[in-house]
Amino acid sequence: KKVNLLKLIKEITQRLSVTYQRDIYVQEEVLDPTLMADEGKIKQLLFIILENGLKYSDEKLHLTLAGDEITFKISVQDYGIGIPANDIPRIFERFYRVDKARTRKTGGTGLGLSIAKGIVDSHQGTIRVNSEEGVGTTFLITLPREQWKQKGEE
Ligand code: ATP
Repeated sequence: KKVNLLKLIKEITQRLSVTYQRDIYVQEEVLDPTLMADEGKIKQLLFIILENGLKYSDEKLHLTLAGDEITFKISVQDYGIGIPANDIPRIFERFYRVDKARTRKTGGTGLGLSIAKGIVDSHQGTIRVNSEEGVGTTFLITLPREQWKQKGEE
């Protein structure tokens, strides 16, 4: 249940950077990297967002991790194709893909972001996107260090 978020981020970015042969810069400013969460799910969340960043851009990626006593903020920024403004409201829907033709490499199913949203929701966090076509995309995720428990849980 206790997750070292910084360690997890470093492992994942390192692995993806080797696999994709791309630079992923990690900038962090956290004193305590402890997050109470489902480690497997947080790993999956980071993979989805980072892999999209790699798939839809050719350049470096930036990940920043910041946090206070209550909440972590993770941002993943790419300098890729971006998302058209009209599509932004729908990208977290299941099976929604912007345009098959523009997807490079292997493409995908359009499930990644809906799964990412589900994981963030189940941890009582938020996920937002800022994007401009031809300029790049930034995903902003917040995750509270601990979730509020419903009555009857643990
Ligand atoms: P898969 O989940 O199998 O990788 P996918 O990438 O198509 O498939 P999602 O991850 O749900 O599916 O993303 C939905 C759509 O949002 C994608 O088809 C893509 O057009 C757009 N998208 C997601 N991330 C980015 C990004 N970083 N830059 C540009 N477009 C993106």
